[in-house]
Amino acid sequence: MTRNGFRAEEIDTSRPHPARIYDYLLGGKDNYEVDREAGDRLVDVAPEARIGVQANRAFLQRAVRHVVGAGVRQILDIGTGLPTSPNVHEVAQEVAPDVRIAYVDNDPIVNTHANTLLTRSAATSVVLADLREPRAILDHPDVHRVIDFDQPVALLLVAILHFLSEADHPGQIVATLRDALPAGSYLVLSHATGDFADRTDTEEVYKNATATMNLRDRAEVERFFDGFELLEPGVAQAPFWRPDATPPRGSAEIGFYAGVGRKA
Ligand code: SAH
Repeated sequence: MTRNGFRAEEIDTSRPHPARIYDYLLGGKDNYEVDREAGDRLVDVAPEARIGVQANRAFLQRAVRHVVGAGVRQILDIGTGLPTSPNVHEVAQEVAPDVRIAYVDNDPIVNTHANTLLTRSAATSVVLADLREPRAILDHPDVHRVIDFDQPVALLLVAILHFLSEADHPGQIVATLRDALPAGSYLVLSHATGDFADRTDTEEVYKNATATMNLRDRAEVERFFDGFELLEPGVAQAPFWRPDATPPRGSAEIGFYAGVGRKA
């Protein structure tokens, strides 16, 4: 067993995992040598990557506070990532203690950590499933345990869709999820982009990882919001989506688009 309580054979340390690279960039400890090497290479080719992931995480918090403040009491968070403070349920429940959350990720390490570290309560579910199989997520009993699809849901697809290639038909996947949500639901989304600097080399860094990096431009990211009304200011760079403080220096280079849409 490791200090985290895993059996060694359950941990794949031969290839970088997106969740662990992200954890490393955020300054977390749930990562391995391969992930740190990939993270360092990412920073070499995209020097703003560290402030980028922080800006993405800060956007996630602002967006969750917004949708919960607007009255949503259920969150479907696909691509949870490794636990990091504050977690989505902590941000949400600070605004409204009765928010229910289903956390979905396809990485077994995320699943194990989430089960161990996140509050396991009637209000929270942790599910091992893949975004590329949206029906399996929508039909999963542990999702249904906390999410009532007759009531508005905030669907979180934050920093995950860039791990899907066009061959995965990400637009259709988002549409399948959207069609399962009632009016008054929200889509909270962020996505990596090369629109602000040539970041093709970041795709190279993920070549050996368990998921590929697929940068998309503004129009492609906006298309994910089909069927939703974009809230002001529309799709923006993460630090500039309703900032609650002056965005940090270097924000203009950050290659993360972010937006929130509401299903009418
Ligand atoms: N949403 C969090 C974490 C982003 S890291 C945040 O923005 O802070 C991206 C996460 O998506 C990782 O945990 C990774 O394991 C997960 N992921 C990548 N591809 C996935 C897929 N096809 N299905 C489910 N989860 C996936």
